[in-house]
Amino acid sequence: MNEARRRRLAMKAAQAAGVNGLLVTHPADVRYLSGFTGSSAALVLAGARAALFTDGRYRTQAKAETSGLRVVVEQKAAALLAVEWLAEAGVARCGFDSTHTSVATLDSLRAVLPAGKRRGFFVGLEGLVAKLRQVKDSDEIGRMRRAASLGCALFEEVLQHIVPGIPESEVAAQLEFMARMAGAEAMSFETIVASGERSALPHGKASAAKLPKRGFCTMDFGVVLEGYCSDMTRTVHLGKPSQRELDVYHSVLEAQEAAVEIVAPGVTCGEVDEAARSVLRSARLDKYFSHSTGHGVGLEIHEGPRVASKQKQVLEPGMVITIEPGVYLPGEFGIRIEDTMLVTASGGEVLTAASPKVWMEL
Ligand code: ZN
Ligand code: ZN
Repeated sequence: MNEARRRRLAMKAAQAAGVNGLLVTHPADVRYLSGFTGSSAALVLAGARAALFTDGRYRTQAKAETSGLRVVVEQKAAALLAVEWLAEAGVARCGFDSTHTSVATLDSLRAVLPAGKRRGFFVGLEGLVAKLRQVKDSDEIGRMRRAASLGCALFEEVLQHIVPGIPESEVAAQLEFMARMAGAEAMSFETIVASGERSALPHGKASAAKLPKRGFCTMDFGVVLEGYCSDMTRTVHLGKPSQRELDVYHSVLEAQEAAVEIVAPGVTCGEVDEAARSVLRSARLDKYFSHSTGHGVGLEIHEGPRVASKQKQVLEPGMVITIEPGVYLPGEFGIRIEDTMLVTASGGEVLTAASPKVWMEL
């Protein structure tokens, strides 16, 4: 059982941080450690013991999806019961994720404890489970491969729907319809289809704007398959391009490939970012590259590590990251090219390699 192994690793990390219990409430973290896919639950770990607290809506589901832990179904707030369980289990110091817990919630959790136990009981551990999730195990890598492959198949299919005069929203609708028909549970995020001048908006959600006779069309989309997100961007051109459009496209492609090329264990995220950025700097386009080069992806669309300027975090085998440089020229056009990559023992593997990145004219 993957989840049991992950719980052991989480407990080990918690003990290394000086606590003997762990309270997990962020849904993606709960899922990672228990298999439970519902949106509301609290998971607690104390040594080798584990319990999942949820409400009546999830009675059948929680028992079916988990194993090796106690499932407690009650109408009372899950986190409060979880704290009672921790205290009874003999936990003296309990780690919780300070990035996902409000001050008000923490106060209410503390109030559950006997007065004498409150002081020093909760210890904020920022992103303890999120850090474990950065390195994918073989089961997760299999799921991410399948999600990425589905993304590539959808891109190929959607090309036939890219014709001048149809609204961007229709391109997005086609993508999303085909995704669901192919078994996707959801889209990873709101589909981006940005054409013509709108392609200069890095996050141009599909609008009513119609695809131009001549100009770019950027599509950034992802599916959720078996719980895991895919993420890819391709920019295609409708009609004959100008020399400038061709030149900028090839600079972005060169930057993207330079970053892809250096992905390997031991390389820092900052170095990957710089590989893309320096190509655009030589082409005097770096000031139009207004975001970071990439991000981790997995159960959530944006996870660690951050592939951004000066980031010292080192890549490790099993991490899955995106490489997505872009150039956005306001009032003219924009281009972004994004792959999802797995860091392997010897380098990197592009999971979205089935979708061509070469200049595409429709
Ligand atoms: Zn994307
Ligand atoms: Zn992305």
